[in-house]
Amino acid sequence: MTVPLCTLDDGAWVSVNNSRVVGAGDLWLLADHDVCDCEKADFLVEAFAEVGADGRHVETRAAGRCIACGTEGVTDWLPVGRIREGTLRPVAFESLHTG
Ligand SMILES: [Zn+2]
Repeated sequence: MTVPLCTLDDGAWVSVNNSRVVGAGDLWLLADHDVCDCEKADFLVEAFAEVGADGRHVETRAAGRCIACGTEGVTDWLPVGRIREGTLRPVAFESLHTG
């Protein structure tokens, strides 16, 4: 089953199956990243550069900045949720990218 994925509003939203599921403005705590030199980046998502699916996992590359040091960048591919029965079950951003 193929679920349509795209970004909307110049990357402000990730759309799955024509519904907006993940929006810019979220704060992601990134533990394993190349955005800046912080051990853990407090990454403010400003836009989604790319979105794709790896099997049933939806992944995105997010553009934004680390609010701790101010460095701007684009993340590597990060999972934002799983496709189940045609809809996205979002992951918990606060816990996913840590550790
Ligand atoms: Zn930083």
